[in-house]
Amino acid sequence: MKILVTAGPTCEDIDPVRYITNRSTGKMGFAIAAAALERGHEVTLVSGPVSLDPPAGVKLVSVRSTDQMLRACQDVYDDIKVAFLAAAVADYKPVRRVEAKIKKSEDVITIELTRTPDIAFHLGQSKGSRILVGFALESDAGRVNAERKLADKSFDAICLNGPETFGSDRIRAEILERDRPWLALPVLSKAELAGRLLDLAERRASQSG
Ligand code: C5P
Repeated sequence: MKILVTAGPTCEDIDPVRYITNRSTGKMGFAIAAAALERGHEVTLVSGPVSLDPPAGVKLVSVRSTDQMLRACQDVYDDIKVAFLAAAVADYKPVRRVEAKIKKSEDVITIELTRTPDIAFHLGQSKGSRILVGFALESDAGRVNAERKLADKSFDAICLNGPETFGSDRIRAEILERDRPWLALPVLSKAELAGRLLDLAERRASQSG
């Protein structure tokens, strides 16, 4: 199958040297890409800035901003059957990018921010028979928030985890699939979780025609 994976953070520039971003190493998305390649799938990995080596055989598209990540996903979307949206996308970007480095002068400055596009939502709007698997990193009310995201973003499944996952090789996750109850998994390596998510996506893809 042709699979799209988003990974890592996105960065939104304030000026030539400062930017807004999210904490993300990209490990989960890269683990999914590696596992999918091992199973013989064709994988496009759209990644924000990370310090990981891409798995051999992947088609890597390196991006920086959320707008670039959305365009890179749209460029391959027609052809893909499954998308795993593991990127930690910046939710806000500066209204204006300042051309010259902002000088230190005032004690307090204000940077006006505006929403970035929701990549998952956009892809979900023209989902067709594709399978979309999303992630929710929640520090509280995890299941309620994840259930809302599953519905709002037209996901087929969502993988919920907590902030202790940052940078770790191991992960405690719960998975919610449409029309199924919550599945609480034991602590797994990110490679093992990637395998579980691929099992799920392959099963749903074979059912969806
Ligand atoms: O940030 P949020 O908790 O809403 O992210 C949930 C899911 O939506 C994740 O799979 C994330 O990759 C995706 N997302 C996205 N574009 C955004 C925000 C989130 O694709 N702008």
